[in-house]
Amino acid sequence: DNPVQRKPDWIRVKAPVSAEYAETRRLMRGLKLNTVCEEAACPNIGECWKKKHATFMILGAVCTRACAFCNVATGRPDLLDPHEPDNVAEAVGTLGLEHVVITSVDRDDLEDGGADHFARVIRRIRETSPGTTIEILTPDFMRKKGAVEHVARALPDVFNHNLETVPRLYPTIRPGARYFTSLNLLSRAKELEPGLFTKSGIMVGLGETKEEVLQVMDDLRAADVDFLTIGQYLQPTPKHAAVDRFVTPDEFESYASIARGKGFLMVSSSPLTRSSYHAGDDFRRMRAA
Ligand code: SF4
Ligand code: SF4
Repeated sequence: DNPVQRKPDWIRVKAPVSAEYAETRRLMRGLKLNTVCEEAACPNIGECWKKKHATFMILGAVCTRACAFCNVATGRPDLLDPHEPDNVAEAVGTLGLEHVVITSVDRDDLEDGGADHFARVIRRIRETSPGTTIEILTPDFMRKKGAVEHVARALPDVFNHNLETVPRLYPTIRPGARYFTSLNLLSRAKELEPGLFTKSGIMVGLGETKEEVLQVMDDLRAADVDFLTIGQYLQPTPKHAAVDRFVTPDEFESYASIARGKGFLMVSSSPLTRSSYHAGDDFRRMRAA
């Protein structure tokens, strides 16, 4: 037993047992769809799936990167499923989602990094569920010329890309990614389509300092990013990066008020915040304000 890894009581989650959970699972299996809720072993799956909130993970279940915090499988990627845009759109319709979050594995092996597939998924959902707001959470499209442009022009409502951690920790936590590549992607998306909202997030408890977190906030505001999420890192398996510490609920609250002061339109900062956690509720509340 490693006391550092013992979860404090503010990280309490219920086992996923509802009928809605089972139904969502059946629907995903039937349409051969992956969700990040399952692949990333998200602690909120019981709560989210009970409400039929799921985050689709497109472009296969195998990633070409190996981030030290992430539970998604790494290796030789799957063939692209040409039916995936139709199947995601069908699931969105069946679940009756008002807001959908679409993410993906990283596909460094594809010439466009999967940008066209993203764009197709967005368009297909627009055609079949015009009332649904669409949030995408994309890879960094590093060295994929034209990819960000292609995806932004498909006009999602929210363009999200997570910085994940502070720049100093990139070499160990997010090897293969570059802090400024990710920041540039966010400012580029906004510059291309000023009408869309941009969003990013980090995990804390990986060894970052408060000053570093505040610097990330400033960098994101300088890139004109609208929404921010901050959540506690949880080690998915003993092979993944260890938790440095559990950030207290008060510290999360303090990050939230600092971030609001810096001008983010929407901030979610709590131990169990994930970039897709309550994303639809937060988005609706923000638009109504
Ligand atoms: Fe899925 Fe996001 Fe909810 Fe986690 S927080 S279960 S990834 S929708
Ligand atoms: Fe996980 Fe994304 Fe990193 Fe791939 S790129 S290992 S899916 S966090």
